[in-house]
Amino acid sequence: MILILGGTAEARRFGRLVAGAELEATISMAGATLSPAPQALPTRIGGFGGEEGLRSYLRDNHVLAVIDMTHPFARQMTARAAQVCAALDLPYLRFERLPWVPCPGAQWTHVSDPALVAEAVPEGARILLTTGPGSAEKLGLEGRDVICRRIDLAEGRAPEGWRWLVARPPFSLEDELALMRRERITLLIAKNSGGGDGSAKLDAAARLDIPVVMIERPPLPEGIKVVGTLWAALAWAKSMARA
Ligand code: NAP
Repeated sequence: MILILGGTAEARRFGRLVAGAELEATISMAGATLSPAPQALPTRIGGFGGEEGLRSYLRDNHVLAVIDMTHPFARQMTARAAQVCAALDLPYLRFERLPWVPCPGAQWTHVSDPALVAEAVPEGARILLTTGPGSAEKLGLEGRDVICRRIDLAEGRAPEGWRWLVARPPFSLEDELALMRRERITLLIAKNSGGGDGSAKLDAAARLDIPVVMIERPPLPEGIKVVGTLWAALAWAKSMARA
């Protein structure tokens, strides 16, 4: 069986390709969202229980290979999966989408660490925060005027000065323009997730001359095999299933 580490739109799409190719595979999700979108493949939900738990899962389920399609900011899972697969001599492939780059005229401030975000936020900014609530406490933005978009209201009180906006992607350019105009947003703070699904907010910000604070991705582990397309990942999965 091939294990796909999911939790992204690409992993869901990839699941359909793998199901269509009739490969034996399971998608694993962390269980972070209350009502995850349906998958085309058998699905397991919840953490593995750290390094030992992952090792046991891979062994007990006779996993042939691991395809890591977790989000580019889910680096804990990526680091662990890469390390455990290397230790078990199990083939591991990372699917990594390209990061976003600013279009001509867009005003981006790049930050390498969430802890540096507050320094890049001007006084009086009306902020749209699209990083989700997970990294909220690392940003140092308590007391600032923040609308924080999130998929569901699973947990957590909003920090002082913040409002939650519960909304499920994808968002169109029209949706993003309407939101930024309605809320009179003056600053967008985003993570550089990349991919097509979340990019409308960047187009809307550029169109409305709203500056962007872009949190860049943590690095990938060294020495791993990486692909950037679902077709390349599928070809690899087929070669693993044949091996
Ligand atoms: P993370 O910090 O890298 O991992 C935290 C823990 O969550 C891991 O140690 C593992 O628990 C569990 N986990 C993560 N991905 C898993 C998976 N696919 N299957 C089973 N367990 C998984 O990850 P995160 O940033 O909290 O993200 C959690 C999930 O949400 C990921 O699947 C990711 O693809 C998705 N997601 C994340 C973001 C983001 O911005 N971080 C955005 C969109 C979607 P154990 O130690 O118990 O094994």
